[in-house]
Amino acid sequence: MDEKLKKNVVIIGAGPAGLTAAFELLKSSNFNVQILEKDSVVGGLSKTLEYKKCKFDIGPHHFITESEKINKWWHDVMEEERIYGNDFIQLSRFTRIYYKNHLFHYPLQPLNVLRGLSIFECIRCILSYLKIRMFPIKNVSSFQDWVTNRFGHRLFSIFFKTYTEKVWGISCKEISADWAAQRIKRFSLSSAIFYAFFGRWFKKNVPRTLNDKFFYPSFGAGTLWNKVCRKIYQDYGGKIALNQNVVRIKHKNFKIKSLLTYNSSDKANDERNLTEHFGDYFLSSMPLKDLILRLDPLPGKMIVNAAKKLCYRALITVNLIVNKKNICPDHWLYIHEKEVMMGRIGNMNNFSMYMVDDDNHTGLSLEYFTYEHDVLWKMSDDKILEIGKAELQKMGLVKSEDIIDGMILREGYAYPVYDANYQDHLRIILDYLNNFSNLKLMGRNGLHQYNNMDLAMISAIQSVEDIIKNEELILSNQFVKNEKHDLVV
Ligand SMILES: Cc1cc2nc3c(=O)[nH]c(=O)nc-3n(C[C@H](O)[C@H](O)[C@H](O)COP(=O)(O)OP(=O)(O)OC[C@H]3O[C@@H](n4cnc5c(N)ncnc54)[C@H](O)[C@@H]3O)c2cc1C
Repeated sequence: MDEKLKKNVVIIGAGPAGLTAAFELLKSSNFNVQILEKDSVVGGLSKTLEYKKCKFDIGPHHFITESEKINKWWHDVMEEERIYGNDFIQLSRFTRIYYKNHLFHYPLQPLNVLRGLSIFECIRCILSYLKIRMFPIKNVSSFQDWVTNRFGHRLFSIFFKTYTEKVWGISCKEISADWAAQRIKRFSLSSAIFYAFFGRWFKKNVPRTLNDKFFYPSFGAGTLWNKVCRKIYQDYGGKIALNQNVVRIKHKNFKIKSLLTYNSSDKANDERNLTEHFGDYFLSSMPLKDLILRLDPLPGKMIVNAAKKLCYRALITVNLIVNKKNICPDHWLYIHEKEVMMGRIGNMNNFSMYMVDDDNHTGLSLEYFTYEHDVLWKMSDDKILEIGKAELQKMGLVKSEDIIDGMILREGYAYPVYDANYQDHLRIILDYLNNFSNLKLMGRNGLHQYNNMDLAMISAIQSVEDIIKNEELILSNQFVKNEKHDLVV
C-alpha cells in the first residue's frame, strides 16, 4: 500500500497483547505501527530475565491454550527459533501442594490425599462433601461459596483457602465467584476423582485445570516474545520504543489525539520533558486504572472514582540459584502452609535444563503476593532474599548454605483483583471508554481480566480485526462516494 495512505497505529505496552497486535497489524501491511513500552525490555509479565547466566520468568510461564489459532501462532514463531537451539518443548505438568509437611498431587488424586491426610481428616472431608451436596449454598456470590459447593467446606479450607488468600490478600468471602468460575471452570471433586482414575481414556475432554500437557521455549517464555519483537522491527519495519512511559493521553470529542511519554530510564527526566506521539488508532494494554487517571482532560468524577477503586495485586519473586540438582520433580509447588508467606515455588530446571548455567545447579523462583502499600513490598531486596532463604529452610526444601546467589523481581500490576464490587467499577469505565472511536482495549490489565497469555493475545487479535473492518468500511464508503461523484460529473 502507498505509504501516504497507511494509517498510524500507536500501541501502549510490549507485552503479549501489544506485540501480538503489532505483528497482526503489520502482516496486513496497511498500517504503520509504533509500540510504546515503559520497561527496558519487551514481554511484559511474560518476559524472561537473566541473572548470573541463569534465566528466570516472572514465575514460570507455560504455554497452554484451547485455541488452535494461538497454538499455531506460537509454533510458527518458535519454528524459526529452532535453528538457534530454542525448541518449543512439550512437557507434562507435574505439580504438587505443600501442606503440613506433605506433598499432595495437583490436581488432587484420591489415593494420594488419603495417604497425606489422617483417616479422621478424610472422613471429615467426605462428610462435609456429602453435606454440601445435600444442602448446597443457594446464593453463590463469593469464591468461598463457589468452591465449597463443589468440594465441601473441609476440602475448601485445606486445599483452596490459604493459597487463594495468599494470592489475593483478602478473605475468600470477599473474592468474587467469577474468579473461581474462570479459573476452575468445569473442575469439581467428582471430576477430579473421575479423571484421576479414568482420565487416560478421556484425554480430549479433560478440563483445562486438569490438563497435563503444555509447551515451553527452551530458553525461557520471554524468548518467544523477543522473537516476535525482532520480527516486528526486522521483517516488517514496525517501531518499538522502550523506556517510554505513557503519562498523559490527550483526547477530544471521544477521540484520542496523542500520547505523551517520558523516558523512564532517565532519572533526571520529568513531566516538562515529554514526547508527543500522534496516531489514527490507539491500542492499550496498560492498566485500566492508569489509563483513566492519565486522560487529559480527566473524565467525570464517577468514572475517575470507579478507576481509583480498581485494585491490583503485586508480586515479588525471589529468584535463587541453588548448588544442588533434583530438588524436586515439580514444575510448581503450591505452598498452602500458613507458617510461611511464600505462595508458590517455580522450579525453572524442570521447564528446561537451559534455564541454569550448570547441570549441578537449580533455579528456583519463589512467589510472594503482596500490595504495593504492604510492609513486604517496602522492604529492601536483601531483607526479602533472607526471608526467602529462611522459609525454604523452614520447610525443609533447601538449606540456606546451598544457596549460591539470588535476586528479587517486583511487578506492581501482576494480578487484576476480582473483589466483590470490581464488576460495577469496570462497567462504569468500559461504558465510558466504549464511546471512543479510535481506542481499543486489550490484554490482561488492559481489560482488567485475569487472562493468561493466550486470552491476552485473542483480545489483541480481536482489536486488530475491529480496526481492519473499520478501515474497510471507510474505504468502501469512499468508493461509493467517488462513484456517485463520477456519475454527477
Ligand atoms: C506469576 C504469574 C504467572 C503466570 N503464568 C502464566 C502461565 O503459566 N501461562 C500463561 O499463559 N500466562 C501466565 N501468566 C499471565 C501472563 O503473564 C499474562 O497473561 C500476559 O503477560 C498478559 O499480557 P499483556 O500484554 O496483556 O500484559 P502484560 O504482560 O502486563 O504487558 C503489558 C505491558 O504494558 C506496559 N505498560 C504498562 N503501563 C504502561 C505505560 N503507562 N506506558 C507504556 N507501557 C506500559 C508494561 O510494562 C508491560 O510490558 C502469569 C502471570 C503471572 C503474574
